[in-house]
Amino acid sequence: MASEITYAEVKFKNESPAPVVKVPPETKKPEHHPQKYPLWLPWLISLLLLLVCFALVVIILVFHFWHSSDQPRALQQQFSEWKCDSGLPQSTDRGWTCCPEGWRRFQRSCYFLSPDTMNWVESEQNCTGMGSQLVVINSKAEQEFLSKQIKRYPQREYFYIGLFADKEGQWQWVDKTPYNVTAAFWREGEPSGGVGEDSTVIYSPEKTLNNWIDSKSILTRYRICEAAAVTV
Ligand code: CA
Repeated sequence: MASEITYAEVKFKNESPAPVVKVPPETKKPEHHPQKYPLWLPWLISLLLLLVCFALVVIILVFHFWHSSDQPRALQQQFSEWKCDSGLPQSTDRGWTCCPEGWRRFQRSCYFLSPDTMNWVESEQNCTGMGSQLVVINSKAEQEFLSKQIKRYPQREYFYIGLFADKEGQWQWVDKTPYNVTAAFWREGEPSGGVGEDSTVIYSPEKTLNNWIDSKSILTRYRICEAAAVTV
């Protein structure tokens, strides 16, 4: 008997997709790149940066010093002959303190007592032109020194100093040092405040330390210029 072949139709619904087998990513083996720069290069760069910073600091300091000493430099450009002495008494400074030949030194300043006369404005301009200014008297010691110096020239009676008044009675120093009436050395009865008496002179024949007189600034007088001494 011949066997029958039976066929059946089979339908699969909701066929599930073929399962995806996740294969773990292949772990990369570390690659060995050859060294592209020498090991000392970062050190060299750090050292160079340090040197650049150091150079900048030096430049800033030199620039600062250069500008802070404008007045002595202006004085230096004006004079070729200088007189120096070694250091200042009661000071730790070493080296030499110098003033132009013919000027007199007291503490850290140099003073020029003029042999010629000018009005007050011209006197101030003349001092400025030499890298100095009309003298600013900051202490009793400075007043004593100047009062002695002017006695060396008895024929010169009046010396302009750097004290003037913009308005009646409003005295001020040429370098903006605050005017202190208790540290002023007015002669008795001065300042008398006459018309146009808006500048100040030291009156040489006065025997006491109080030898300032207010003066008309149009009058021609001798002058005392002051500059910072140059230290080398
Ligand atoms: Ca002074």
